[in-house]
Amino acid sequence: MSSAEIRNRFLAHFEARGHTVVPSASLLLDDPNLLFVNAGMVPFKPYFLGQETPPYPRAASVQKCIRTPDIEEVGKTTRHGTFFEMCGNFSFGDYFKEGAIELAWELVTRPQADGGFGLDESILYPSVLDGDDEAIALWKKVTGLSDDRIVRLPPKENYWSMGVPGPGGPCSEILIDRGPEFGADRDWDAGDRYLEFWNLVFMQDELSAVRSKSDFDIAGQLPKKNIDTGMGLERVAYLLQGKSNMYEIDVVFPVIEKTMALTGKAYGAAYDDDVRFRVVADHVRSSMMLIGDGVTPGNEGRGYVLRRLLRRAVRNVRLLGYDDPALPELLPVSRDRMGESYPELHADWDRIAQVAFAEEEAFRKTLQAGTQIFDLAAGEVKRSGAATIPGQKAFALHDTYGFPIDLTLEMAAEAGLQVDEEGFRQLMAEQRERAKADARAKKGQHADTGVYRGILDEHGPTEWLAYETLETESR
Ligand code: ATP
Ligand code: MG
Ligand code: MG
Ligand code: MG
Repeated sequence: MSSAEIRNRFLAHFEARGHTVVPSASLLLDDPNLLFVNAGMVPFKPYFLGQETPPYPRAASVQKCIRTPDIEEVGKTTRHGTFFEMCGNFSFGDYFKEGAIELAWELVTRPQADGGFGLDESILYPSVLDGDDEAIALWKKVTGLSDDRIVRLPPKENYWSMGVPGPGGPCSEILIDRGPEFGADRDWDAGDRYLEFWNLVFMQDELSAVRSKSDFDIAGQLPKKNIDTGMGLERVAYLLQGKSNMYEIDVVFPVIEKTMALTGKAYGAAYDDDVRFRVVADHVRSSMMLIGDGVTPGNEGRGYVLRRLLRRAVRNVRLLGYDDPALPELLPVSRDRMGESYPELHADWDRIAQVAFAEEEAFRKTLQAGTQIFDLAAGEVKRSGAATIPGQKAFALHDTYGFPIDLTLEMAAEAGLQVDEEGFRQLMAEQRERAKADARAKKGQHADTGVYRGILDEHGPTEWLAYETLETESR
């Protein structure tokens, strides 16, 4: 079943059951805690938080999502993309646990000939928050499954909150057993064997404090209980397309095929190369979607995420053996697949292409200037019998050649080396201090200090902070 068909069936199922279909919001909603929309519920937050009255009691959407914290998983697990589409149904004080379980189970198990996904019940495992007896009873009632098929998981996995006081609640997931080649029997943490493809959040609690994922205070029940669910479109697609991972589905794999043609390398021949192929396909798609929504490459925040994605895509194509500009070859392939659901990619193509291609050009110059210096430094370290590139070198690469620290870290890892990150950080901090002192000195001479403040903000503590933002951003 094509991704487009999965999307259509999902929306049709919920529309026929009283849900208003709402188009995807931009990836760039204003939210103080998020760089990007990372779940289907984000555009509906004002309704869930009681700040606005929802114009409908039930809604369904297929929302574009970016999850940068998953970037290291891409290509290594079978299921994590930096960009993905989350199919969701939402109830604002309308149906609750039983309705959500019924609606999801029905769509998942209804035969394909009757408009469902036709997944085999005998390998499906609902999970609940350990102790959510209400949910356990409902799953048994709705599905007829035996007690031992309901998986009890700790709050770390199955309690949802926004990390701050406000709404919270237990979750239920639907897992599918993909068989022993993906992990051990009943090892629920082996996420690629018991693949979680749908998460149902039962928003019922009012939290007065949240200290961690498993340490929070429940002050009472919400006056209106809500449902927020998320089904990964790509995850269902690889289940229904008989593929082993999300990078091989209809809307992603063509980029891998094109990369094979460019590099002359085969996908499926060697693990390390396969990871690179998958990273390329993922990052090309996520970069294109980000540019489509208006992000341009930069040194901090959203722009830095885009820059990192584009550069990782380009570098991985190079590592596979193709040295010419890659994005003019790959981006149109991704556009042609994604354009069916997002026609604006075609309408806005000239701008999107121009932004991406310019960044690749700039990066090629950076690599040209810095790679030799990096190789010299790495060679020196190896000859001396050490295993760590000094912070000083990482700083010089950054300062003189524009190598972001994560690029140095990645290239070092490929060379079997480490980097003295602590030393690098220290030197960056000292440079910032010098810049501040400079600005203070100038402040003494000029009346208008705002200008310098602005310059400092723009050119001062940029990259490292951006990197930290990237790593700490989470749902
Ligand atoms: P996982 O445990 O596999 O990392 P999650 O628990 O972080 O997933 P949720 O936050 O519950 O995921 O999101 C709801 C659904 O969105 C998931 O059940 C999954 O189908 C999908 N999903 C989440 N993260 C990704 C991702 N990085 N790439 C593709 N699909 C994803
Ligand atoms: Mg996750
Ligand atoms: Mg999970
Ligand atoms: Mg989940």
